[in-house]
Amino acid sequence: MAGSRVIVAGAGPVGCVASAVLAAGGVEVTLLEAAPQLPRELRASTFHPATLDLLEPLSVVDELIGRGLVAPVFAYRDRRKGVVAEFDLGALADVTGHPYRLQCEQFKLCEIMLEALERQRTVSVRFGAEVVGAVDRGDAASVVLASGERLEADAVVAADGAASAVRKSLDLAFDGMTYEDRYLVLSTPFDMATRLDRLAAVNYISDPDEWLVLLRTAGLWRALFPVGEGESDDQALSDRSAQRRLAGIAAHDEPFEIAHRTIYRVHQRVAETFLVGRVVLMGDAAHINNPLGGMGMNGGIHDAVLLGASLAAVLRGDIGADRLAHHAGLRRKLAIEYVRRHTHENAESLAAPDGAARQRALDRMAARATDPAEARAYMLQASMINAVTAMHDELEEVGAPRSFR
Ligand SMILES: Cc1cc2nc3c(=O)[nH]c(=O)nc-3n(C[C@H](O)[C@H](O)[C@H](O)COP(=O)(O)OP(=O)(O)OC[C@H]3O[C@@H](n4cnc5c(N)ncnc54)[C@H](O)[C@@H]3O)c2cc1C
Repeated sequence: MAGSRVIVAGAGPVGCVASAVLAAGGVEVTLLEAAPQLPRELRASTFHPATLDLLEPLSVVDELIGRGLVAPVFAYRDRRKGVVAEFDLGALADVTGHPYRLQCEQFKLCEIMLEALERQRTVSVRFGAEVVGAVDRGDAASVVLASGERLEADAVVAADGAASAVRKSLDLAFDGMTYEDRYLVLSTPFDMATRLDRLAAVNYISDPDEWLVLLRTAGLWRALFPVGEGESDDQALSDRSAQRRLAGIAAHDEPFEIAHRTIYRVHQRVAETFLVGRVVLMGDAAHINNPLGGMGMNGGIHDAVLLGASLAAVLRGDIGADRLAHHAGLRRKLAIEYVRRHTHENAESLAAPDGAARQRALDRMAARATDPAEARAYMLQASMINAVTAMHDELEEVGAPRSFR
């Protein structure tokens, strides 16, 4: 259908990718972002191999790699004893064009994509445009902005994040759980690799007192720590806590320079459906999860590629609406059975309160890493290649941009 238009709410990584996929599918796009300019919060920093493969046809990966850090190896460590297991994604070079994790902040993807989107005649981007709700009309949909303005389109994409106003306006349940611990993220330019032996760019570090995740990005080390009930947000964010926590990783004579500090509440929640007529939910608007394993944004980008291409195919008349419903159902199933399962297992193994369970999780990782077949099976899961393979036929069906080998 010539001249179809889709409104995308939210210019996070998922909204930007969805807009690009829809535009590539011949649809006019209006991308509405509530913030006055692109948010630069420190959240996702890991792009998995499968996600880079999916992004490749959108011509953004080279620039993203240029602004990030290529990390072929990720490791599990015992905080006291050092490396327990190392996994080298280079072993997956036969199935992915990107056999590594790319450590790069999510806002850099948005910056690169927005620049490309703003150059396209069929895409208009509006900042300071907060969507307060959406209405499905069966074969069309509309949104209302905080200013009172109403915009009509052939469909609406809700990519407006975890607190999605679109999801709430449709009265969709977002069931799941909230973890007891909050997560504190600190970043420092101090080079942790000068103090810890065999430190990989991505490290899951187990400890009976305080586990952590230690990640390198271009120019910074980021550490994520649990914050228990006995510590308030202000206490956890204080200099005293930040210096104590960083000094616990690496001895340093002077106070650490702290580039960012943020505290997050962590959830596992999935919307009851990802599709209501002509309104499609994607990314955090549809599912949120524990960040351990780095699958939230990645899974959201997978939604954007499949569901963006599927919606464009429906609007072109290439497939029926029933196929979009099938694709949305598949993405919901993967959010539950793949992303939720894997990230929850990661959290359980790192944070296991009893020493025996923690040791069993470490032993399991060590055994996996030393058996090439098991290591490969684990890496296919952790790199999300299995998640994209699970929607292989559907990606083909909708002609989604795809360069998966
Ligand atoms: C500490 C931490 C670390 C993480 N690390 C990783 C990682 O390494 N890998 C990974 O895959 N995931 C990670 N995640 C999860 C990841 O950050 C999210 O899954 C990702 O941001 C989701 O992208 P999104 O575009 O759906 O939503 P968001 O990034 O939240 O973007 C939503 C956008 O919509 C805008 N918006 C909100 N409301 C409205 C409205 N009403 N109208 C218009 N616009 C609106 C917002 O301003 C924002 O720009 C991490 C999360 C945290 C907290």
